[in-house]
Amino acid sequence: MQESAELRIEGAAKRFGEVAALDGVSLQVARGELLTILGPSGSGKTTLLKVVAGFEKPDAGWVKIDGVEITALPPARRDIGMVFQNYALFPHLTVERNVAFPLEMRNVAKPEIVRRVAEALALVELAGYEQRLPRQLSGGQQQRVALARAIVFNPRLLLLDEPFGALDRKLRETMQLEVRRLQRRLGLTTIFITHDQEEALVLSDRVAVMNKGTIQQIATTTEIYERPANDFVADFVGESNIFHGTMSAPGEVTLEGGRTLKVRSDKSAGAKVGVLMRPERFDTGGANLFTGDVIESVYLGTSFKLRLACAGGLELLVRQPARGPLPATGARIEVGIDPKAIHVF
Ligand code: ATP
Repeated sequence: MQESAELRIEGAAKRFGEVAALDGVSLQVARGELLTILGPSGSGKTTLLKVVAGFEKPDAGWVKIDGVEITALPPARRDIGMVFQNYALFPHLTVERNVAFPLEMRNVAKPEIVRRVAEALALVELAGYEQRLPRQLSGGQQQRVALARAIVFNPRLLLLDEPFGALDRKLRETMQLEVRRLQRRLGLTTIFITHDQEEALVLSDRVAVMNKGTIQQIATTTEIYERPANDFVADFVGESNIFHGTMSAPGEVTLEGGRTLKVRSDKSAGAKVGVLMRPERFDTGGANLFTGDVIESVYLGTSFKLRLACAGGLELLVRQPARGPLPATGARIEVGIDPKAIHVF
């Protein structure tokens, strides 16, 4: 069986007229790792995947698999498995023939094809569906066939471009867990593209956040959520309260409106900083207290989501466990946050 590979992208750039779809992207995916590329529509995610797959030639930069440069290699010779959002199964071929296709292309012997197709279909839990046509399958089943077809030839890399975008929420969650299980079991080096931050957090070893053709941060899921590198990442991943200010003393930030906050940070006095407070990190007390009028309150089952107007024009988004009655609009409440729950960047 072929080993999964390490992937390196170095300084990849690609322009379409005025648009820099990729503006100098470098990243590395370790053997057996699942890296998610997360970013808004148009940030360059698909272009990056096409450069890896060989469907787009970069204007500059390299793609290397296990240290060997493959930037000019045709797609069919890269040994990469792919699944896209629009299923792209052959509609006139049975499930079995769809999955056999990559093996037929590689002139694998017939008995070997039969064995490997059965194995791949078992892996995606579709044994018994061999003779069906794609239109006789649900959306989730079609994506599983696409997944079986992408892994049946032991690819060196697996690329998934929003593969569950067209599925409903429940099915999408099931498929996310299945992909994770399968990817771990096969030890497959994988890149997964999504614009859905929850999906990225559920699936990944690491996440690369993209915006406007550049990588804003690559880190583990906790790191991305707890210690985002900049405003864009803090805002794009999760709910946030982001403010700007200056380090006015050691462990103290003065926000633009004049309010001071006790923080944990080794940034030097005078440094311009961003401050992130996640809505769920507020409590009833703490070293930083805020009194505010409720201007919006929503019941979300397990939590209350509140918007507070505080002194100095400061507006806060706060999540509280749903205990007792939902605070009414106009009510005045006090919340607090601990210095160590505030991220300074
Ligand atoms: P989405 O989540 O909507 O699929 P994306 O992050 O995958 O977006 P890309 O498809 O990589 O983004 O596109 C990046 C930018 O490059 C966009 O502005 C897009 O319009 C542009 N672009 C991509 N392919 C082409 C092309 N073949 N010709 C012209 N412009 C293109």
